[in-house]
Formats: sequence, C-alpha cells, structure tokens
Amino acid sequence: MKREAIAILGATGSIGVSTLAVIERHPDKFEIIALTAHSQVPRLFEQCQRFAPRYAVMLDIVAAGQLRGLVKQANLRCEVLHGADALEQIAALGEVDTVMAAIVGAAGLRSVLAAARAGKKILLANKEALVMAGALLVETVRANKAKLLPIDSEHNAIFQALPHDFAGDLAAAGVRRILLTASGGPFRLTPAHELERVTPDEACAHPNWVMGRKISVDSATMMNKGLEVIEARWLFNAAPGQIEVVIHPQSIVHSLVEYIDGSLIAQLGNPDMRTPIAHALGFPKRISAGVAPLDLFKTALEFSAPDPVRFPCLNLAYQSLQTGGSAPAILNAANEVAVAGFLDGRLGFTRIPHLIEGVLNEVESSPLTMLDDALHADSRARDAARQWIARC
Ligand code: NAD
Ligand code: MG
Repeated sequence: MKREAIAILGATGSIGVSTLAVIERHPDKFEIIALTAHSQVPRLFEQCQRFAPRYAVMLDIVAAGQLRGLVKQANLRCEVLHGADALEQIAALGEVDTVMAAIVGAAGLRSVLAAARAGKKILLANKEALVMAGALLVETVRANKAKLLPIDSEHNAIFQALPHDFAGDLAAAGVRRILLTASGGPFRLTPAHELERVTPDEACAHPNWVMGRKISVDSATMMNKGLEVIEARWLFNAAPGQIEVVIHPQSIVHSLVEYIDGSLIAQLGNPDMRTPIAHALGFPKRISAGVAPLDLFKTALEFSAPDPVRFPCLNLAYQSLQTGGSAPAILNAANEVAVAGFLDGRLGFTRIPHLIEGVLNEVESSPLTMLDDALHADSRARDAARQWIARC
C-alpha cells in the first residue's frame, strides 16, 4: 500500500517534533518527503538523518549552506533549499499528500495558502494563518478541494465532538454553542499588581503544556484563547456569540460542543499534543499516539469564567472579530511584536494588551479580500507596534 507522503513545515519546533514522534511509530503508513525550519541546523540535520526526506528547507540562507555541507558529508540524498518561496514550493509539491503547517506566527500564512491552492490535506497548527486571513483561507480550501484538519487541541476536540458529516452549518447540526476550554496559563491566580513584574521564563512555564515560547506567552496573556476564538469562528463557521471560553485549569477536557437538546459532547485526554496530531494524521481512522490513557480515578475537573480585567487580550480578540476585515490581522501582528518585545525585555507583561489596543485604535481596518490585504495590514500594524515600543 502507498504510504501517505508528508511535508512538515516547522519540523524543529514543539509541534514538528511531536509530529515526527507519532510518525516514527507508523513507518508503514507515512513517509516524510520534506522537513523545514527557520535556522536550527543541528536539529534539522538530525531529523534528516532519521527520516531521510527528499527535501529540507531552511528559511535562513546561511543555515541552509551549513545544512547542505552536513547533508553532503553524510551522503544523504536530500536537496537543501532556502527562503520563503521554497516553503511555498514544498507546501505545493505534487508528491506531497499532507502538509503539517507548524510554523509559528504570520510567517506561516503563505505556505498554508500554497498548500490550500494545491488541494492538500492540511493539518493546521499555525492558528495565526486563520486569524490573519480566515475567510480567504477557508475559501481557498473549498475552491481547491483541500482539506483542513485542526491540530490545536481545542479545535481538534470540537472537530471530534461535532457530527461526522458536519458541513459548516452549526444550526442544522443542532449545535447551540462551542465551549472552548482554557487552562488560564501560569498566571491564572496571580494578583493584578504582581503581573507587572513577571519575567519571560515565568510566562513560559506553562502548568500543563510544553510549547514554543511565543504560544507560551500567548497562553499567559490569554491571547492564545483569543486567537483560538477567531480560529474557531473560521473552522466551524461559528458566530462570535456562539463561542464561549471556559477556564479549566487541568487541561483534560479539551473543549465541548453544546447541542440544543442539552447534551454536551466533550473530548478528554491527557494534555499531550501527540493525541490531536495522531487523530488528524490517521483521520478518519484512529492510530496510536504513544500517549498514556487518562486515569479518571486521578482526575478532578474544575471550570470557571475567565477574568476580563487581568486578561484583557481575550476581549480584544473578540472585538477584532466583531470589527472584521483586516482587524484580526492587525491584532495578530501587534501581538507578535508585543510578545517578541516582552521576550527580549523591552516591554513589560501588562503592556502587551495596552500595545495591542493602541495599535487596533491607530491602524484602521479595511476589507480583506486577498492575500495582499492581510500582508498590508500585518506590516502596518507591525510598524505601529514598533513605534509604540520605541515611545514607551
Ligand atoms: P515553535 O517555536 O516550537 O516552532 C516553530 C517552528 O517554526 C520551528 O520549526 C521554527 O524553525 C519554524 N519557524 C519559526 N519562524 C519561522 C519563519 N519566520 N519562517 C519559517 N519557519 C519558521 O512553535 P510551536 O509551539 O511548535 O508552535 C507552532 C504553531 O503551532 C504555532 O502557530 C502555535 O500557535 C501552534 N500550536 C502549538 C501548540 C504547542 O503545543 N506547541 C499547540 C497548539 C497550537
Ligand atoms: Mg490550543
């Protein structure tokens, strides 16, 4: 039987590594065609040795040169490419069936769109692509008969809790609401006055998940949940009012769907991204993920409402969704600049929402009909955000 041919964009990151861990368990089912990374040469080289991809892409040209040297020395039959155009080429390669989109941030958008145009099965971890250009991406997927499977644990849970034949009409499926769970992050119980002084390492010490630093900070500010509300809007064609966020500190219930008959259907499991990754890789079949089953006898489940005062990012995301057009792209870009500023010590933690709000007020949103509209909004918001940091 032909094995499914996979390209992993962002192979060296947290999601990329977990994807390879699942794939390694199923050498009979999957074949790695391409692996990509920003600039982590030793890690991508080690992955090339283990998985023998036909192509490896580095965003960075110098890193690509180094990797090429190592690949040659090791006699691997792997073509090393570089740059953003090469990422798009890889995402659209004829020999690739499935693209794992696991680049972090706006940098992933073009390659996700390229995969959609080429009609690929897309396993979408890169939520920022949907936040920036949700309508465009969903339409490109539809027009080219591509398939979008959510990797984000909450959205994967919702996908599992919806009817198998769900075709984008929540009302027709008898759904009243989508309940998106949130751990509350490392500062769930931190008093407001202490939030001002928290450090990047404290923000990245998530209680339940080990993730890249950008999404870890997003979890700490709860912007991650805001981005996920927008992601849910596009994945499930949900109105903002149909998506409710529920704090659930244990991260065991990964999200729920509430039906009009009063049923709540949830997906539960240990917090380990290999579960949603294996679900999407195997879909519609189930394959093993290497994840220990949940021990219900040791499981306590708590739920509460989010605190909009200590975590204003969530409401900013809802507002940008209400505004529509390019507003979510502006929100996303401002957030990326703010998080980078926080991670390198130029911006205090509590300034992150201030900056985003300032940029949303300053940069006017406009209708978003093509990729350039999203990229233009992204670049204007980044400029405004950098100026905001320079002023403070
Ligand atoms: P990460 O920082 O660990 O990895 C990011 C990957 O993208 C790396 O391989 C890096 O080399 C590559 N990359 C970074 N910048 C790039 C650029 N400009 N161009 C090309 N490649 C670039 O991030 P992560 O935690 O794996 O998250 C990846 C995506 O998955 C994010 O969108 C995140 O929100 C989403 N996600 C992650 C988790 C998780 O548990 N880590 C859970 C849900 C969703
Ligand atoms: Mg998530």
